[in-house]
Amino acid sequence: MKPQATFEATPPLDDAFIERLKAILPGAVITDSGQLESYLIEERGLFTSTARVVIVPDCAETLAKAVRLCAEHRVPMVPQGGNTGLVGGAVANQGEVVVSMRRMRAVRNIDPVNFTATVEAGCILADLQNAADAESCLFPLSLGAEGSCTVGGNIASNAGGMGVLRYGNMRELTLGLEVVLPDGRIWNGMRPLYKDNSGYSLKNLFVGSEGTLGFVTAAVVKLFPKPRHVQTAFCALPSVEAALELLSLARRNSGDAVTAFELMSEFSLEIVCRHTDRDSPLSEPAPWFAMIELSSSRPQDNLQEIFQSTLEEAFKAELILDAVIASSLEQGHKLRQLRESTPEAQKRAGGSIKHDVSVPVSSIPVFIERASAAVAEYMPGIHFCVFGHVGDGNVHYNLTQPDDMTKEAFLAHWGAVNDIVHPLAMSLGGSISAEHGIGLLKVSEIKGYRSPEEQGLLCEIKQAVDPDNLMNPGKMI
Ligand SMILES: Cc1cc2nc3c(=O)[nH]c(=O)nc-3n(C[C@H](O)[C@H](O)[C@H](O)COP(=O)(O)OP(=O)(O)OC[C@H]3O[C@@H](n4cnc5c(N)ncnc54)[C@H](O)[C@@H]3O)c2cc1C
Repeated sequence: MKPQATFEATPPLDDAFIERLKAILPGAVITDSGQLESYLIEERGLFTSTARVVIVPDCAETLAKAVRLCAEHRVPMVPQGGNTGLVGGAVANQGEVVVSMRRMRAVRNIDPVNFTATVEAGCILADLQNAADAESCLFPLSLGAEGSCTVGGNIASNAGGMGVLRYGNMRELTLGLEVVLPDGRIWNGMRPLYKDNSGYSLKNLFVGSEGTLGFVTAAVVKLFPKPRHVQTAFCALPSVEAALELLSLARRNSGDAVTAFELMSEFSLEIVCRHTDRDSPLSEPAPWFAMIELSSSRPQDNLQEIFQSTLEEAFKAELILDAVIASSLEQGHKLRQLRESTPEAQKRAGGSIKHDVSVPVSSIPVFIERASAAVAEYMPGIHFCVFGHVGDGNVHYNLTQPDDMTKEAFLAHWGAVNDIVHPLAMSLGGSISAEHGIGLLKVSEIKGYRSPEEQGLLCEIKQAVDPDNLMNPGKMI
């Protein structure tokens, strides 16, 4: 069975309440079923969203008024950004009002001296990247959904992506926040400070809280100097162990200029080539591949030379079987696309059972070896569509249906396969949710892995900030 959560139904919203909402948000309350549809779609089709009302406020003050009304009527609320999340966190299935942040989308300020951007929560990630770029700065968060996910959603799910190795995830990138609290108060913590030791880090409570503590309405985020040089290579590797040695070598030889180090299994590259009309740049098959990106803002750096000497050294040490270094930015982009197309290729290749796990980087080989032996024994013929951000220990340990099985029959094994993979990751000091969050998808399972102390503290925090359980009920905790 696919993982499913259970819910307590709340009473349906009454018309008088909806009329009061419309008075607060003229023209910004959606109840028409045709218009509701796009807010109710769930990326993976695992959960059904059933909201009767979506509101689309244009500023924190208006949102706060609507939240006060919901609190008065004990109506639960679900924050929603781009609705691209992969764990059902933005789904409404308990009679909640969906609060879309799409109209709060301005980049208010880029400060190239402080290296910060002040941005509204509904700003599309790619728009923030472009605004930073126009000021010769870099906002380094980059992920497959960047054309539609929002900065607020990235903060709420503490998004990571390919650049975490160098720049950290959203928690490291966020300096200040503005939040509408579950009772309608507004907390202004928009401090553009790199150092601020003035009490508990409230900001960090909301980063990664998946909409369960309040609405992020604006943020101050870190920027970096825009890299002058970017170089990409694609390597064939004999083993995962070799990948880790190559990662260390590349970090040491480049003065830590590695901004992405992405692993792909043989099957991953094979389906990318088969289903997304892309070609492997290497002629021979290999058990593993790595896409490596170096970048630097130092004018004198010659990344081509650094790659050349590093890969020669790696070849002599038998860490790589073959490699190609991009000869242009365009070719580098194509190499990156091989890795970025893997989720799309997997969708087209049939049923998928996915695991977003992390383990300490040094434990990745043992994790993959043991998990693969156990899964292959459980289901002979299963395909290993394993890929991930190896530089930060995050492995998307994904599996594709055997050729002789239907999608439905395969997906019926989801829970059983989780029960093989997740305990193994945990036993190696890992996590069952490296970057996508808990949402509805893992909320039941995670409780089995949290200590009573950890679960207790999480519940006490939730109770203190949201005593009526109005914010995204049933998710994460
Ligand atoms: C193709 C693809 C590739 C991806 N690759 C990566 C990757 O490499 N690394 C990675 O970390 N993630 C990845 N993701 C997941 C990605 O991090 C999330 O999809 C994204 O961050 C969610 O942003 P969103 O605006 O769509 O939020 P939504 O999906 O709308 O919401 C996500 C969660 O945040 C809450 N939320 C949204 N906005 C707010 C707000 N303003 N205030 C409070 N709570 C809010 C919602 O209630 C929900 O719980 C990928 C997703 C896709 C579809």
